[in-house]
Amino acid sequence: MSSLAATETATAFVEKRPLERYAEPAQPSLVGMPRAMLAQALAEVGVPEGQRRMRVQQIWHWLYVRGAQDFDAMTTLSKDLRAGLARRFTLARPPIAAEQISVDGTRKWLIQLPGERAEAPHEVECVYIPESDRGTLCISSQVGCTLNCSFCHTGTQQLVRNLTAAEIAAQVVVARDRLGDWLAGSTAAGAGRSEGDKRLVSNVVMMGMGEPLYNFEAVRDGINVIADGEGLSISKRRITLSTSGVAPNIARAGAEIGSMLAVSLHAVTDELRDQLVPLNRKYPIAALLEACRNYPGLSNARRITFEYVMLKGVNDSLADAKALVRLLKGIPAKINLIPFNPWPGTKYECSDWDQIEKFSEVVFAAGYASPVRTPRGRDILAACGQLKSASEKLSARERLALRAMAMTD
Ligand code: SAH
Ligand code: SF4
Repeated sequence: MSSLAATETATAFVEKRPLERYAEPAQPSLVGMPRAMLAQALAEVGVPEGQRRMRVQQIWHWLYVRGAQDFDAMTTLSKDLRAGLARRFTLARPPIAAEQISVDGTRKWLIQLPGERAEAPHEVECVYIPESDRGTLCISSQVGCTLNCSFCHTGTQQLVRNLTAAEIAAQVVVARDRLGDWLAGSTAAGAGRSEGDKRLVSNVVMMGMGEPLYNFEAVRDGINVIADGEGLSISKRRITLSTSGVAPNIARAGAEIGSMLAVSLHAVTDELRDQLVPLNRKYPIAALLEACRNYPGLSNARRITFEYVMLKGVNDSLADAKALVRLLKGIPAKINLIPFNPWPGTKYECSDWDQIEKFSEVVFAAGYASPVRTPRGRDILAACGQLKSASEKLSARERLALRAMAMTD
């Protein structure tokens, strides 16, 4: 085998290719579109160039401040323009295929997205986690995932496709619809919130399905829609992008996105990380941490969150905990310990609770405080909702996991 072929084989093992592309429907929705696309849409219905900026501004307000579901609600636009838009476009949201509500108010939605073949749509997860001082929405960036971490259920799926920027931003719109989280009088049911009220969805974490840094442009553009101060208005300080460690794109994310960053570390040696996060063979720990050190704007007030999944007998020894704090020395960091969520067929088990506590004590002792103050540091025990089943209720561990995710800010 030539060395090029060998490299390609190694790369193919680490990264999968999408099976499908986004197929635009005959009548696309304007919901989630970045400003430039919206201007293009206006051009298509004959709005002269000189007016487009103003029209985008008006529609932006209706879409992302008022949550308009109907062109007729957009009373600052002429009747002709509304009719023209309605002929060519819709304001449709991706439908919610299933909803689960846990006793603590956490809500998980399966959101349906079109497949290349109309009869085979896709689903992605979106989870809302209410807390006393914030509400965090966990959104997806891909159907499936480019990568194949051995402990992750999504990783076993063949990558199906990348989400578009509009589909990424539309998850926030769907959540605000469902929660009645628009300004007063603006929802279909009239159940909006009054001006000045705190919004329910105040934070966003990109920790659902997919590796966001392998869908870079769409993630960047989608985040820009979510963060736009004249629209959905969730500032980049309240948006966290989680990556498994696509080192070169971390620098690019720093330059072009500027959100908060979370890094799925999970192991302190390359030998183990190669098994858990096979992408490590391409970007080993040293390269990854170098990229983290260079992430712009880091300070004690603006830290990188390092995620660490607790796998029994694999990465959860106290020696691992000590090595972890040594490794992160000098990087403004938070550490999220994630209880492993088992799934059918996995070879891993979650660490014992006792062990997680001991591990977290080492981390605490090294000065990694958690943003939520409760006794004995239970609060830093974080986990990810690797929630695959639409029919099951959230388990206690999943609820803990989801609550912990809300602490990344
Ligand atoms: N692909 C990105 C973001 C999505 S996953 C990433 O890997 O960072 C969000 C977090 O959940 C990651 O830290 C991921 O490693 C972790 N995770 C994946 N599967 C898990 C499981 N079964 N139990 C607990 N955490 C898991
Ligand atoms: Fe993809 Fe993240 Fe799962 Fe790894 S942990 S397979 S990067 S979703």
